[in-house]
Order: sequence, then C-alpha cells, then structure tokens
Amino acid sequence: MDFRLSDEQEALRSSVREFAREVVAPTIAEHYEQHTFPYEIVRQMGKMGLFGLPFPEEHGGMGGDYFALCLALEELARVDSSVAITLEAAVSLGAMPIYRFGTEEQKAQWLPKLLSGEALAGFGLTEPGTGSDAGGTRTRAVLDGDEWVINGSKAFITNSGTDITALVTVTAVTGTRPDGGKELSTIIVPSGTPGFTVAPGYSKVGWNASDTHELTFDDCRVPAANLLGERGRGFAQFLRILDEGRIAIAALAVGLAQGCVDESIKYAKERQAFGQPIGNYQAIQFKIADMEMKAHTARLAYYDAAARMLAGEPFKRQAAIAKLHASTVAVDNAREATQIHGGYGFMNEYPVARFWRDSKILEIGEGTSEVQRMIIARDLGM
Ligand SMILES: Cc1cc2nc3c(=O)[nH]c(=O)nc-3n(C[C@H](O)[C@H](O)[C@H](O)COP(=O)(O)OP(=O)(O)OC[C@H]3O[C@@H](n4cnc5c(N)ncnc54)[C@H](O)[C@@H]3O)c2cc1C
Repeated sequence: MDFRLSDEQEALRSSVREFAREVVAPTIAEHYEQHTFPYEIVRQMGKMGLFGLPFPEEHGGMGGDYFALCLALEELARVDSSVAITLEAAVSLGAMPIYRFGTEEQKAQWLPKLLSGEALAGFGLTEPGTGSDAGGTRTRAVLDGDEWVINGSKAFITNSGTDITALVTVTAVTGTRPDGGKELSTIIVPSGTPGFTVAPGYSKVGWNASDTHELTFDDCRVPAANLLGERGRGFAQFLRILDEGRIAIAALAVGLAQGCVDESIKYAKERQAFGQPIGNYQAIQFKIADMEMKAHTARLAYYDAAARMLAGEPFKRQAAIAKLHASTVAVDNAREATQIHGGYGFMNEYPVARFWRDSKILEIGEGTSEVQRMIIARDLGM
C-alpha cells in the first residue's frame, strides 16, 4: 500500500496548483461577484489539457486516469470551487457518458471538442420534481419514425447554458419495462435544437462563477441515432456515472477543506489580538490542527476509492464514504476558517467567504449525504 504520488502525478499537481494560484486566484472573485462565467480561465484549462485528463489520446485526451482528474480538481478547489465544478461536471458528467456509452460515431463527433475544452456538455438527470429519487423521472421521449420527441424539464443542470455548451445528455422515460417499471434511456440533445429551451441562470448561494440552468423540452426532436448506449440502460448508466462522480466531488471537497487550512494559517499569522498574532493562541492552533486532520483523512478516503475503481474492484461504498466524509469536512472547515477570520470572514473580499458559500452544496450535489448513507447501509446488507 503506497499513497505517495508518482513523479508524473506530482508534476500534474504542481502545475495545476501554480495555475490556480497565478491565473484563477487573481480574477475569480470578480466573476463570482458579477455571476459571470470565466471563459478565459476555461480556455486556459483547455490548453493545459485538463478536460482531456482521464481519456485516451485516440479521442483527443491526455491518456491519464480518473485519479489524475481528482488531483487537478483538488488543486483547483483549493483556490476556487466554481472553476473546479466546471471541470468536474464537464469531464465526469459531460464527456464521460459519451466516452463510456457512445457509439464510435458519437465519440468522433463530440469527444475531440469536449476533451480540448473548446466545448462543454451537461448531464440532465435531476428534474424540478425529483432529484434523489431519479427513478421518478417524468421527462418522456417517444420514438416517432427516426426521431425521438422529447417533452419534460430538467433542473439545476451544470454547464448547460454557456456560449460553448455543445450538448446536454438527458435521461428520459422511453417506455415500460416487462416488470411494469419505467424504461429509462439517455439521449443526446445538441444545444440550439428547436424545442430545447435554456432558462436564465439561477440565483445561487455559491458556485456563482459556474453555469447552472433549468432546461425545458417541448416537442424537441433529435435523430434516433442520438440515443446514448442501449435503450433501457439509462438507470444503470447514471448509477455508474454518479459512482465515479462522487470520487471527483470528494476530491473537490478535499481541495476546499485544504484551502480553508491554507487561508487560516496565513490569516492567523497576520492578525493581531491582545498584543500578539491570533495564531499564537492554542484555541486557534487546535482549530487549524483539526481542520488539517479532517482534510487529510478525507483525502485518504478518496485516494482509496479511486485506487479501487482503477483496479477494477467494487468501489461504490468507498466512493460514497469519500463523498460523505469529504463534504462534511469541507463544511466543517469552511465554518472554522470563517470563525478564525472573525468579521473579515463574513466579507466577500476574503476567499474564505467564498469557501463558506461553496461548501454546503457539496453535501447535496451528486447525491445528498442522506443518499450516501443509504448507499453505504445498502452495501452493508441493510
Ligand atoms: C448548483 C447545482 C448543480 C447541480 N448540477 C446538476 C447537474 O449537472 N445534473 C443533474 O442532473 N443534477 C444536478 N444538480 C442536482 C443535484 O444533484 C440534486 O439537487 C440532488 O441530487 C438532490 O436532489 P433534490 O434537489 O431533488 O433533493 P430531494 O431529492 O428532493 O431531497 C430533499 C431532501 O430529502 C432527502 N431525502 C430524499 N430522499 C430521502 C430518503 N429516502 N431518505 C432520507 N432522506 C431523503 C434528501 O437527502 C434531501 O435532504 C445540481 C444541483 C445544484 C444545486
């Protein structure tokens, strides 16, 4: 057992760290305040190859693996989570379903631009009326000749409405299974398809420089060939995508948790109270020690889940544990970092204010903490 990184992994980590500090940190606060999408940062991330990290070179990828993506996400989120979730959603929710389940034609059509970061894709599972209970999907797709006709709506879809969004994959009910249950399938809907409407962006608590929209499909017609993978396999497909995605969200949460440690140490050394830096007080030191302990253990949890996944072993429980633990830790660390910053922690000019606002969604997106507990308990035979 060896959790030390290889030279190649260390090199990736330090180049993303440098990019996050030198390119993301100076400009992201303004995007966050203005609720604008950081196109220039995304363009540079594309040039660095971050969108192609876990994909083979034959599709335009970097030939790395899912763990490489996680390392990049951790380093980005250490500075900013809007940028990190843009990458996470683009890769693990946007491009990955096409890579995993697409035909050769679909891969050739979409992957090169998605993996270069020139284009983004969204993953439309959640609906206004159902999220955790994804089996409750109401969006329907009916085959009419050689076209699917889609009707319904999707809620909170990341990367679905940017100027460079090329498509959204949508889960829809396409029939009834022999056991009477809903037959769910996944269909590619290119941006700009008539009948596909992207609502204005939500007003969010956090992730304010990321792109999130409600989508509606009103007699939206796409070719039958846009079916992604086998008809009726939609449920199995999104379970696979979400299992992997949880490791990525855990990495992102660890980054935020570690960013809270970074900012707290810096502030505690500078801020004076009662004649000395607050970092001299044991109460502050212990808070920071606890924060570091939490970030470290959460990191080990996602390393373990990723190692199992890459070894081809079962990893569902470990991914859920990593996501549950890392998101809890992120919220804890954001709260403590804000406390260490005192009144300045409540001011948006300090990164910890962003960390605080960005932490809560980690306990909700890609499966709530309750859903993670359900997965763990089920895997324990309960
Ligand atoms: C900013 C943002 C970006 C997102 N991006 C995407 C995206 O790109 N694609 C996408 O498809 N979705 C996306 N989502 C949706 C996200 O995954 C869902 O919000 C999440 O899965 C929870 O679903 P819900 O909001 O419908 O909550 P609900 O499922 O309605 O849950 C409400 C509460 O009830 C609890 N609950 C539900 N069932 C049970 C149960 N059986 N036992 C105990 N408690 C239960 C939940 O844990 C939660 O606390 C995004 C959400 C946000 C906010």
